[in-house]
Amino acid sequence: MSVSLASELSTLVADPARVITAPAIVERLSKDFYWYSPILKRQLESKLGDIVVQPVNVDEVLAVVRYAGQHAVPVTVRGAGTGNYGQCIPLHGGIVLDLALMDKLEEITADGVAVCQPGLRLATIETEARRQGWELRMYPSTIAKASIGGFLGGGSGGIGSVAHGGLRDFDTVRAFEVVTMEEEPRVVLHEGGAIHEILHCWGTNGILTRIWFALTPAVEWTQFTAAFDTYDAGFLFAKSIAENKDWTKRLMTVFEWPIPSFFAPIKHVVAQDKTLVLIMIETGQVDELRSAAEAAQGSVTFTGAYIGPRTQPLLSDYTWNHTTLWAMKADPAWTYIQAGFSPVDCMEQFRLLRERYGREILFHIEFMKNGEGVIIPGGIPLVYFTGEQRLNELIAYCREIGVFIANPHVNYVEDAGRFRSDNIQLKAKQKYDPRGLLNPGKMISFQPEAVAK
Ligand SMILES: Cc1cc2nc3c(=O)[nH]c(=O)nc-3n(C[C@H](O)[C@H](O)[C@H](O)COP(=O)(O)OP(=O)(O)OC[C@H]3O[C@@H](n4cnc5c(N)ncnc54)[C@H](O)[C@@H]3O)c2cc1C
Repeated sequence: MSVSLASELSTLVADPARVITAPAIVERLSKDFYWYSPILKRQLESKLGDIVVQPVNVDEVLAVVRYAGQHAVPVTVRGAGTGNYGQCIPLHGGIVLDLALMDKLEEITADGVAVCQPGLRLATIETEARRQGWELRMYPSTIAKASIGGFLGGGSGGIGSVAHGGLRDFDTVRAFEVVTMEEEPRVVLHEGGAIHEILHCWGTNGILTRIWFALTPAVEWTQFTAAFDTYDAGFLFAKSIAENKDWTKRLMTVFEWPIPSFFAPIKHVVAQDKTLVLIMIETGQVDELRSAAEAAQGSVTFTGAYIGPRTQPLLSDYTWNHTTLWAMKADPAWTYIQAGFSPVDCMEQFRLLRERYGREILFHIEFMKNGEGVIIPGGIPLVYFTGEQRLNELIAYCREIGVFIANPHVNYVEDAGRFRSDNIQLKAKQKYDPRGLLNPGKMISFQPEAVAK
């Protein structure tokens, strides 16, 4: 890092203390949860930014981006750094643009839209929204730390997706303002369908600086768990609840044994050798759900109110990608894949995977609604890592038998997420970042020299 880079950047923000060169802090703010993947851990361990800038408003973002463009310095935007693909790890050094201080909740509109800055924590939105009679439609299990900008930049869905789909669905992301990396950077408003140019692009084709995020009316929720003798019994019970519109639910998770044994702090909700089903259900339906679980030979192991992100125990801390974290604590050789099973053929897909891989794969299912309203048994199965070749072979086999995989062991948007076949994300990159300075290397179909004039 050159001394002049630091001193010149210091003139672009009101407080030079927000330009950080201390190596330990630069290193910390260059990293995320990339070590979740044994493959990315090896690939990304040595990657770092050169300097961190922490803007507090859009004018400072514009000033830094303009400077970076003029001097061909890469810019990697960072929210809270909870991404698990090395999404915000700079591959080519440069500026880490840490938006944590741009964290204002401007308002929650009368029709339930949160208008906010990108660094705002999702837990703050959930808490404030519930105070006003609304709540998040969906949130990642990292709600306590994750920012709204990082969720839109790198996330896909989570708790609530069984009712409201993923981030890309049902107009949840109403609009956002984006700072471009053009010769003269601009703030461009994206509304409606235009949000898909930028959504889930890992900050490669624009920097979100203001967001309109639709909420849903708040519900009184109860956390509910039930244990079942077999995986099939637990899964089929959960599937029947997930698919039936009469149940008002926010979370519908299935863990086959021994996954529940990894959840050390909540041993009291776990039954030895049993599959665990975890549900967030509207409180008024708890008694009926208990009867339904018992009729399906399940036994209820816990019920408790959800009162917001500070609920204890907060059972969503064991779902979505947190499950992998608990497994890795128990044995670091556990890793994961992100899967979408067929709602029709899932039992056969489970059978084929078990037949071929035995207990090397453990089923962790998260039900979610897709954009057409169909309930999909998605999930984040655990995989016991014995080598890269074996893992890639398992991923290839999943795809061969019709299981959708977003590969969490690669570090580029095209394979790790939902890159659109109409290439609108790539076209937006060509338009808004023709020199390829935003998070370079993460959108591999982009070639700076191939920019269409
Ligand atoms: C234990 C664990 C559980 C998780 N569970 C889930 C889950 O349930 N669902 C889910 O979707 N994800 C999940 N994730 C991934 C991640 O936590 C979420 O996607 C989270 O919302 C990311 O927010 P963040 O602020 O930490 O983003 P960061 O990690 O800081 O950034 C994520 C990506 O977005 C980009 N970005 C950040 N801010 C902006 C911006 N303002 N404009 C443009 N791009 C930006 C970054 O460059 C990066 O590429 C999980 C991760 C872990 C480690």
